[in-house]
Amino acid sequence: MPNSSFRKTGVVSPEELAALNLLPPEDRLKKGPVVVLECPEMIPCNICVPYCPTKAIKMEKLIDIPAVEWDKCIGCGICVAVCPGLAAFVVDTSKSDFDYVTVPHEFIPIPRVGDEVVLLNKLGEGVGRGVVVRVWERNRTYVITVRVPKGLGMEVRAVWVER
Ligand code: SF4
Ligand code: SF4
Repeated sequence: MPNSSFRKTGVVSPEELAALNLLPPEDRLKKGPVVVLECPEMIPCNICVPYCPTKAIKMEKLIDIPAVEWDKCIGCGICVAVCPGLAAFVVDTSKSDFDYVTVPHEFIPIPRVGDEVVLLNKLGEGVGRGVVVRVWERNRTYVITVRVPKGLGMEVRAVWVER
């Protein structure tokens, strides 16, 4: 993407993700948890492709933008755990009361289920508070699912544990 703002800011916008078909369509978001790959650069990486258990992610070649078959994604979060760029997330905006976001976490302390945490956006700014509902680990990358206020599902991309 020539002249893309993420090259200056380091933060990819929803518009840029949409232009690369990396934003789940509205009808898929309504069905439940689904992956968001914030991976706009042509880099030599395709590790999410073989690890996806449902083969929902495709790449024509090693250096390419991933393409997601949205209805194949089951929101398992394995790509969140294996992505070396910490660029994979799972969002669930299908519920009426809260959104849920699954993020990679490689800092200490490690969140625990039930912790109230500070919710951070892509810029590392605090945008609210949420509650950790699931924690699992693979090769020292923790995968954290957090319940967030309705409307923040596409905004929260990290958590900060105040402990
Ligand atoms: S969340 Fe699971 S099913 Fe969806 S793309 Fe990632 S690895 Fe595949
Ligand atoms: S593993 Fe991460 S960085 Fe590599 S292609 Fe997949 S989303 Fe992009």
